[in-house]
Amino acid sequence: MSFKTLGLTDNLLKAVAQKGYTKPSVIQEKAIPLILKGKDILASAQTGTGKTAGFTLPILQLLEASKHQKYKPIRALILTPTRELAAQIQENIKEYSIFLDIKSMVIFGGVKPAKQIATLRQGVDILVATPGRLLDLENQKKLSLKRVEFLVLDEADRMLDMGFQRDINKILALLPKRRQNLLFSATFSKEIKKLASEFLDHPAMVEATPENSTVDKIIQKIYRTDKSNKAKLLIKLILDGNWQQVLVFTRTKHGANNLCKKIVKKGISAAAIHGNKSQGARTKALAGFKDGSIRVLVATDIAARGLDIPLLPQVINYELPNISEDYVHRIGRTGRAGANGEAISLVSSDELEYVKGIEKLLGYKLVSTVIEGFEPSLIQPENEKLKPKNSSRRNNNNTKPKNSNNRNFNRNKSRR
Ligand code: AMP
Repeated sequence: MSFKTLGLTDNLLKAVAQKGYTKPSVIQEKAIPLILKGKDILASAQTGTGKTAGFTLPILQLLEASKHQKYKPIRALILTPTRELAAQIQENIKEYSIFLDIKSMVIFGGVKPAKQIATLRQGVDILVATPGRLLDLENQKKLSLKRVEFLVLDEADRMLDMGFQRDINKILALLPKRRQNLLFSATFSKEIKKLASEFLDHPAMVEATPENSTVDKIIQKIYRTDKSNKAKLLIKLILDGNWQQVLVFTRTKHGANNLCKKIVKKGISAAAIHGNKSQGARTKALAGFKDGSIRVLVATDIAARGLDIPLLPQVINYELPNISEDYVHRIGRTGRAGANGEAISLVSSDELEYVKGIEKLLGYKLVSTVIEGFEPSLIQPENEKLKPKNSSRRNNNNTKPKNSNNRNFNRNKSRR
């Protein structure tokens, strides 16, 4: 299958060739022809599947084909949960529309609105936005959504997790009734299905490579240790392995800052990225991580979501997420494009409950080992006690920490 057989015009084919893509990804192959036909889409796809081109290319083609106005009303609206994702999408749109007379721009909070307002005034065809800033500027009558023909909700699951449901409803109420809707989500919870049923019109279901097949390419390991030893262990792993580009996940913003400081103290370049950081700091951290000047990026789930950082050799869960699906999203940052990646979780005894949830989601057990000198204490520290209902399991894990899941490791191996 080539991009040409998908029905894209020469100007888009040229742009795609310029990006160096030789053939469409699964999601592109499935979604592009349907979108070109005018269908609503409910797509299961996460970052790394090529979903952005999957919705951008056909929208560009349809906009270009029906261009008539002298002035440019907003005809396509792309909503995303985070600023980083919004900025990334806009960058992609610019590259794909290089041979077209289509204008696009991005708006998000955390920066002064004056420049955004000035650009909006000149007219744009495609607006990429985070919900808050979009509603702010709409309230101030700096933009109108009355002529929107295409709506994309990207990473819809994350938008709901971040509490954007009300904002989404408000935005939907501002749009014309007749329009084409595309919803992209990595997971399909009840809430997502409800949202989909509310605004999609007979949608075609599109699925990218199932999540599991991506996960199976990743070498997953658990290092059991005490909470108080995690930072030391992480630093040892980075230094011993001479890791040059590591993404580390923490559960909280505060935890991200603290860990970052400890790493920097050891002379390893690191930056934290989370919701409390200014947009400038986040952009700088991400750019530094991509260009190699920052070795360790410490991130919270929300901040890292949607970041396009190709082919990370290592992803570390400094703390496990309490939502099992987030584990899959996190480790999906490694082992992309057929390359093997390594996902290591540092697990203290208070997190064993999360391990069980993750294993249930994956459908297999994870390998659990210990590193010499970092063994978890046999007597649990007071602040790492599990809830009483799991006491029997806790004992098992604490008395036999070494390679307790070897049988399952072999099973994992054969899956890879
Ligand atoms: P996305 O999932 O949209 O964030 O895209 C992930 C990465 O894949 C981006 O760096 C894209 O530039 C790249 N990409 C998208 N489509 C293709 C393709 N057909 N061939 C190769 N790379 C692609």
